[in-house]
Amino acid sequence: MAAWTSSKVDAGSNQDWQERLTDSLAKSDGWNTSLVPIVEKLSSGTPLDLHDGLVLFRHPNLNEIGRLAHAVRTARFDDRAFFNSNVHVNQTNVCVLACKFCAFRRSKKANDAYALDIEAYLEDLAKYAPHVDEVHSVGGLHPDWGVEHYEALFRATRERFPHITIKALTAVEIKHISLLSNLTFTETLTRLKDAGLGSLPGGGAEILDDGVRAIICNGKESSQEYLDIHRAAHNVGLPTNCTMLFGTIETIEQRLQHMISLRTLGAETKGFQCFVPYPFLPDDTRLPEAQLATGSEILRTIAVSRLMLNSIPHIKAYRMNIGDELAELALQFGADDIDGTVQKESIMHLAGSTTPLDHDRFQLSRLINDAGCIPVQRNTTYERFELYVAPEPKRRKILRVVQE
Ligand code: SF4
Repeated sequence: MAAWTSSKVDAGSNQDWQERLTDSLAKSDGWNTSLVPIVEKLSSGTPLDLHDGLVLFRHPNLNEIGRLAHAVRTARFDDRAFFNSNVHVNQTNVCVLACKFCAFRRSKKANDAYALDIEAYLEDLAKYAPHVDEVHSVGGLHPDWGVEHYEALFRATRERFPHITIKALTAVEIKHISLLSNLTFTETLTRLKDAGLGSLPGGGAEILDDGVRAIICNGKESSQEYLDIHRAAHNVGLPTNCTMLFGTIETIEQRLQHMISLRTLGAETKGFQCFVPYPFLPDDTRLPEAQLATGSEILRTIAVSRLMLNSIPHIKAYRMNIGDELAELALQFGADDIDGTVQKESIMHLAGSTTPLDHDRFQLSRLINDAGCIPVQRNTTYERFELYVAPEPKRRKILRVVQE
């Protein structure tokens, strides 16, 4: 692998991306009339509003939306597509809540309930540790695990695997730990950061609309609490991702308002690094009224995310959820990041994902190359980057041609 660059600014974006975008849009033409005001706003760096988002969602030509999103993505990152070497270790499936879309949670007494103690967690991670530099850990809201448990877990993990960054705990887990330990969000996050937490994943945002939340994830943190927890994380120096679960019962307006809320916080704190939009997967869950997103809708939602979210640098094609084929296409529809090698994952696979789990860097780079992009390995917090150069294929034995 060849060393490429490192940057602490704007998570690896080209510094002059807005100028590049203005230039490239000035040279492009043939936009449908309804898109012209949107192209002008993008060109001048004006954030798109709800009405613009509706135009993008309703526009009949998906490819044109993709072309526009790709122009923005290319201005920021050229053809680079980012990945990392990671593993998902889900520390427990025991959860005091029962979100309607969740196929993962179990009650404490269920036959297949589990809760990894610290040694079991470390043993699990040890199997993958030589090949990864990130552990992604989210889980259920365990009724007995307060801040001391996670402090001990993170300290032990960092001590045994100092090369691994811990990206862990969604907003609702931070809320749950804070309540159990009688701490503010800031106090909890500060203690966990001191114990070794490196960043927060974005899970649990679902749709930031309390009416929708009351139906699909009753009891979870409110929309405002999700934003408050991420703001608190940014303020203590923890970068975070943010997500959107779509294709349940939400309207297009609610999706767009969700994006606008995240964009506003991102502009305020500069702490969101990546937005991860993913569709609801229906297996084994309890949401028969869900709309379910089609492939075209997934690509369109990713493209619209790129166009709406100018304060969040990276848009992820979450291959654990949408599969390798759609993730590859998404790299031409505004996405620039593709989830990593992911040696192990439970939550999406219990909900019906069939995405392979054993991708090595070579396989992932092939997928990225086939999408017309250049694979770049990154660390968890988008500060170190290395251009990934695939090894030469092994020489093949040449078969002799039989002469007649
Ligand atoms: S989504 Fe999270 S909080 Fe909700 S039931 Fe599942 S594990 Fe629990």
